[in-house]
Order: sequence, then structure tokens, then C-alpha cells
Amino acid sequence: MICNQCPRKCNIDRKQAKGFCNEGQNIRISKIIENFEWEEPCISGKKGTLAIFFSGCNLRCNFCQNYEISHIGKGQEYSKEEFLKLLRSFDYSKFDSVDFITPSQFSLQILAALREVEIPVPIVWNSNGYESEAVIEAISKYIDVFLVDFKFYDKGLSRTLSSADNYFEVASKVVKLMSKLKPNKVADDLLKQGVVIRHLILPGQVKDSIKILDYIHNNIKDPIISLMSQFTPNGRGELNRKITPLEYKTVLAHAERLGLSNGYFQEFTSADTCFIPKF
Ligand code: SF4
Repeated sequence: MICNQCPRKCNIDRKQAKGFCNEGQNIRISKIIENFEWEEPCISGKKGTLAIFFSGCNLRCNFCQNYEISHIGKGQEYSKEEFLKLLRSFDYSKFDSVDFITPSQFSLQILAALREVEIPVPIVWNSNGYESEAVIEAISKYIDVFLVDFKFYDKGLSRTLSSADNYFEVASKVVKLMSKLKPNKVADDLLKQGVVIRHLILPGQVKDSIKILDYIHNNIKDPIISLMSQFTPNGRGELNRKITPLEYKTVLAHAERLGLSNGYFQEFTSADTCFIPKF
């Protein structure tokens, strides 16, 4: 399979070689956690979600909170048949949703499987926003909720932290498209269909966060946002401290000024490694 499925457009045969995401042709899964409760309440619900953490990543931020799976790429390989068997093996009455976490490097493989399986709870596509619009359009027929990161505005920042000059150019279009494809539908406090836009505030980058919020305010109708304060240095990238209370308050105040009140605003104290699952 010649892979150009994400904006990296590596144009390599994943049977023979690995591209930027460092993944081969088969799906690889790093961890599965049943009844996972750490997503936004409208996704985790009361029963928790079935969280499937895919290995590798097409963005590979150097500050990644899940470095072991995104960069080192621990995980078990699944052929299409094995992945289908896995998806059919769960008792979905135990969960309020299924959460595909960092799935973009396997978009086409997951799409092929979803065409052949019925999953009776909302399927969540939990991605980094650095994705192809055509792929998002195709996958939207089979998933219900986009839980999407909207990380950076500034080119220099996305270049330094994620080797992706064009992150904002790509992600801004993708977030807009997702919102058009999946208008929000809530029932019993669960998001049955829709988009949650996540933004992780980075240390020293308040201005960047403000520009992201401005874009959301000006371009997305009735957005659900999730403003995250939990950044924890992983000891590898340039970002070597947590955000300060003042940084968090400044971004939060801007969200309030814009009227972005529908969503989730973490307690400042959540900046702790206990929020990062062990792999
Ligand atoms: S999915 Fe991986 S191999 Fe394919 S284009 Fe993106 S980074 Fe390259």
C-alpha cells in the first residue's frame, strides 16, 4: 500500500518501509483499556469508554504525553481480520462509547474494518487534527464523534514541536469540516454525535492559545471545547515546565470573553503525570 493517507504524504509502500508515523501496513495497538473514565464526561459517560490506543503517530510532538506509544511505538500488530475479530469480541453494553485514540496513521485500515462491523455505541475518533480532509470525509460515515486536538496556530511553534509547518493550515480546515459533518447531538448527557475540540495550553504560549480560541469563535458554530491545563514536561522537548496559574487564567478569561462556555475547563491542579496512562 503506497501511503499518502495523511498530510505527511510519505508516498512509501508500508509493506516495505515505514514513513514519518513509523508504522507498517498492519494496524498496531499499544493498549486497550475497558471502562476508561478519563475522557470528557460526555464521552466517558457513567460506564466509561472502551479506549483503544493505536501505536505510532503521524505528528509525533516532542512534548508528547504518551511518548512510549507515539515515538517508541510499543504495540501488538493486527491484520484486518484480526482487528475485525477484536472489534467483534467486546460486549458493548458495558461501555458508553468506543474511543479510537491516535488512529490517523491507520485511517484507511480502520475504515476498511468499520465497513464490515456494527458497533452499537458511539464511535469516537480521537485524533491530532493533522489529517486529510478526504479521509475525514470518508471515515465520518462510520464514526459518530470527533474528539480532535487543535494544537498550534504559529508555524514556527508547530515546526519546532511537531515538524509540521503547516499544522494550523491543515487542522483549521479539518476542525471546520468535522463540525460541518457532525452537528452536535446530546442525549442522556452523552454526545451521540458531534465534535469536541481539545486545546492543550503550552507553557509560554498564551498568545498561541488565544489565536486558536479566536479561530474557533470566528469559524465554528456552537463549538464544544475542552481547554486542558495538564501539560507535563516529558524531559525530552524544549518545553520543560508546567503552565503557570496566570497562563491558565489568562487563556480561560479569553475563552469566557468570547463566550466559549460550552465545554470543559480543567481544574488547574490537573497538571500531573497521574493523568498519563502507563504503557
Ligand atoms: S500515515 Fe504515516 S506513512 Fe502514511 S503518509 Fe502519514 S506519516 Fe506517512
